[in-house]
Amino acid sequence: MVAKITLAKSAGFCFGVNRAVNMVYKLIDEKKHVCTLGPIIHNTEMVNELKAKGVSIVSSPWEVTTNSTVVIRSHGVPYSTYEEIKSLNLQCTDATCPFVAKIHKTVAKASENNHIVLIVGDKNHPEVMGIQGHCSGEFYVVKNHDELLQLSQELPLLTKKPIYFVAQTTFDVSEWKKCLEIVKKVYTNAVIFDTICSATSERQDEAKVLAEKSDLMVVIGDRSSSNTCKLFDICNRVCDKTFLIENSSDLPKNVIKNACNIGVTAGASAPARIIKEVLDKMTDILNNSSETTDNECNFAEMLEENLKSFNTDGRVMGVVERITPNEIFVDVGRKQAGVVKLSELTNDPNATTEDLVKVGDTLDLLIMRTNDQEGMITLSKKRVDALKGWDEIVKAEEENAVLTGVVTEVIKGGVIVVSNGVRVFIPASQATASRGDALEDLLKKEVNFRIIDINKGRRRAVGSIRSVLKEQRDKIKEEFWKTCEIGKVYTGVVKSLTSYGAFVDIGGVDGMIHISELSWNRIKHPSEVVNVGDTVEVYVKDIDNEKGNISLGYKKQDENPWEVMKNDYPVGTVVDAQIVGMTSFGAFARIIPGIDGLIHISQIADRRIEKPQDELSVGQMVQAKITAIDFDKKRVSLSIRELLNDKEADEASDFEDSAKATDAE
Ligand code: SF4
Repeated sequence: MVAKITLAKSAGFCFGVNRAVNMVYKLIDEKKHVCTLGPIIHNTEMVNELKAKGVSIVSSPWEVTTNSTVVIRSHGVPYSTYEEIKSLNLQCTDATCPFVAKIHKTVAKASENNHIVLIVGDKNHPEVMGIQGHCSGEFYVVKNHDELLQLSQELPLLTKKPIYFVAQTTFDVSEWKKCLEIVKKVYTNAVIFDTICSATSERQDEAKVLAEKSDLMVVIGDRSSSNTCKLFDICNRVCDKTFLIENSSDLPKNVIKNACNIGVTAGASAPARIIKEVLDKMTDILNNSSETTDNECNFAEMLEENLKSFNTDGRVMGVVERITPNEIFVDVGRKQAGVVKLSELTNDPNATTEDLVKVGDTLDLLIMRTNDQEGMITLSKKRVDALKGWDEIVKAEEENAVLTGVVTEVIKGGVIVVSNGVRVFIPASQATASRGDALEDLLKKEVNFRIIDINKGRRRAVGSIRSVLKEQRDKIKEEFWKTCEIGKVYTGVVKSLTSYGAFVDIGGVDGMIHISELSWNRIKHPSEVVNVGDTVEVYVKDIDNEKGNISLGYKKQDENPWEVMKNDYPVGTVVDAQIVGMTSFGAFARIIPGIDGLIHISQIADRRIEKPQDELSVGQMVQAKITAIDFDKKRVSLSIRELLNDKEADEASDFEDSAKATDAE
């Protein structure tokens, strides 16, 4: 039988613990006397090792001796502890994990904004106690989804209040998901912050997968460590032979001898040295077992492989310490300095290091090369972004979700959109709302799109901007039809003109102004009144719900020339009018735009004429008298002859007056 041991890649110190331990060792190297506020990690062996180097453990700043440096461990402390340290004027090294510090900031801000803080986690765990200590307002701690539900029943008003919802960084991921379901249903005003540390979730996920494949699972870590106990629970649920051991002396020798597939993981506070000792001891047990002697060589190689990956592979968290134009330097909690070149920070050729990060930022990074001689670890951020981004793309495809990205290139047949660090091809037919729209207009613009095709093997994705635009349009249309009614006024934009009217976009829906509705005057083409791109005010004249057609009105009632006639041109008014047309029975003269009056042939002159053209011509200006208006039939009668008669009468009257005057003399 060939026994196989698999060590989880995520086993051992997490970034935060590693960073805190290194900070303590640095202080020891600097010959400082160190006091840690509580054990620096939940590992008795490690704590004893540090004690032997002179590190003392205190439970409050008041116990710190003069000339000592107090170290705040990765769990963090309440705000009041910082104040105590300050008031005592102590030297302090803050090793609070940046992820925990971020939760402190989040809850402090929530309290500032009068939001209630809901924390899921163990209220007696130092990390949760620290988080509570940064809430200056109302807060609650629940340990699982049952308590969360119970709280909503006990305090129903709470569910309607604004809430910030956070979790202990090492909280069980599956329990967190159950809590989220309740929050989404019950605490409808909650803002959710997923504060579970990815190191924790990755470690838990990997442990579960490994335990499922193993007939014996060994979890290394201190029994007082919360994340180690959670790892044990997770593994124990799927592998009934799961053992929690603190060191190699706890190994269940007889069980190991009979196991085929042994999985090993370790809590965040298990030092690499203890993990190595456990693996060495397992090797001895298996090599001393008669059934596995033949496999000694394979087993040693396997162990070597495991340790190699444990030491160098994969992703690390790094805190930005220094920024130069071409690279940034990060603390990854190891002896070597971490460096990320600008080209490994982003794909954006225009971005600068200062645009992308600031000192103190925590970054998720991929180790590309470890050079012990130079004391450098070369890292990449963009590759981690792309890995994470690809997961987002796959998830978005499964959920038909809308993604946001920036168009970075126009290529043959379409455009490239970069979203979450992943390049997505959008074919030209899917890039714009209508065919023929210029693709170049999209360059450097942020767009929303959906994934319509994906090749997981080749990591290729094809997207559609059009699908999102269409959905937006449909939604707008739906809203429009709900509120549209005859007489409602809209401001729209003229989209196109035809010989019979103008089409106007009135907010996602097109309506048509018939040519007769554009002007009170007779016009030959809509372009005499409006042009494409003009903003116009229109009103709904008619709606055809079945066909989805909307008829629009444009010309205004107060500009109606018949109203003008009624008010300003009563019968008897003498007007200057232009001859605009001739017929055998008379001539038409324009009184005002939109109203042409008829001068009957009998009214053109004070004598009989054969035809209107004998006296008049088109374009000629004449003076005429309004003799009749029929508002119903929209007809106006004019007379030149009456004016001539009036003139004659006036002249006759003038003559008579002057004759009388002469007689009197
Ligand atoms: S588990 Fe995560 S949050 Fe907690 S100390 Fe480690 S890295 Fe920081």
